[in-house]
Amino acid sequence: MWPLSIKCQLTQLLIKTEHIRQLHSGTSVMMSILAENYYIRGLRSFLKKISKGCPQCRRANANTMTQQMGLLPTARTAPDITAFTHVGIDFAGPFTLRRIHKETSSPQKLCLSIRLPQD
Ligand SMILES: [Zn+2]
Repeated sequence: MWPLSIKCQLTQLLIKTEHIRQLHSGTSVMMSILAENYYIRGLRSFLKKISKGCPQCRRANANTMTQQMGLLPTARTAPDITAFTHVGIDFAGPFTLRRIHKETSSPQKLCLSIRLPQD
């Protein structure tokens, strides 16, 4: 088995064809498949170059976004504290209600905000 040069155009076409034929496999899979029949010097670096230039491989290997957690107080993140251990209520009142239309008998509405748990 003669070593093939990676600079040869025929070798590069062989590798690119095998990359597509193997459905854009990773570097190690491609190296093992090509090593069955060929000895190519500098194969790993060329496969990485192909993978970086291939849009389908870049899309498949792209990093996903992760959600950043806010800085929560320890009272909210401690595992031994049960629910409703710390409770707080925010008031935005007092409200004075005045009846505008005396003929209507619709019920009056009041909004109350409760935040659980609090430090
Ligand atoms: Zn690819």
